[in-house]
Amino acid sequence: MNKLVIANWKCNPTTLKEAKKLFKSIVKETKDTKNTEVVICPPAIYLLSLKDKNIKMGGQDCFWEERGAYTGEISPKMLKDAGCSYVILGHSERRKILDETDEVINKKIKAALAVGLTVVFCIGETVAERMTGQTEQILENKLRAGLNGIINPQGVIIAYEPVWAIGNGNPCDIGSSRETLEFLREKINTPIIYGGSVDSQCAISYINEAGFDGLLVGAASLLPEEFGMIVKTIS
Ligand code: PEP
Repeated sequence: MNKLVIANWKCNPTTLKEAKKLFKSIVKETKDTKNTEVVICPPAIYLLSLKDKNIKMGGQDCFWEERGAYTGEISPKMLKDAGCSYVILGHSERRKILDETDEVINKKIKAALAVGLTVVFCIGETVAERMTGQTEQILENKLRAGLNGIINPQGVIIAYEPVWAIGNGNPCDIGSSRETLEFLREKINTPIIYGGSVDSQCAISYINEAGFDGLLVGAASLLPEEFGMIVKTIS
């Protein structure tokens, strides 16, 4: 399987002009890479304006209904129609800031799979959960609840994102990420990627030493050269 590098731009940048510039630079920095699938997940409002034959597109979230009186929501079918093949669901920022529950995430995962989107399902433990030795139980609970009723997890990619390692330049050490990966591989047979303060220095270790199938990249995906280096080092 090709390695996967997914860029999560979150709520950045703030203008279409900047989004186009960033996208163009990433296209340039990643154009000669082989054996790696690059996915960009911009804010949904930019999706229709960003296209390139070497890059796959993804949403950062979606609703669970296809259409109707749901003010502000974007359905999986709309993401598909806008050219997406992926959608990130269950991100810890949405769980924390927007109070997304496992039940809501489960409904979204089912709806996204139903239209053929590949789901990047994020799970991870908080620092308190880690310090109290609950990491494996928390991950297992999140996996079970998020995938409740889904018999075949084909079309789901698990993103292991320790919450305490996101957005702070403090990535999970390779040895401990490998142990968690081994635990997750016993629970589910589907690709598993790592996310949490990945940069071009540590990226390769998560693939070659820990054994992940790819990376979910936040802050570094807003820096085209750095992001390009991440893709190149693992390709
Ligand atoms: C993320 O939010 O999914 C993420 C991995 O962010 P960062 O790379 O900035 O830690």
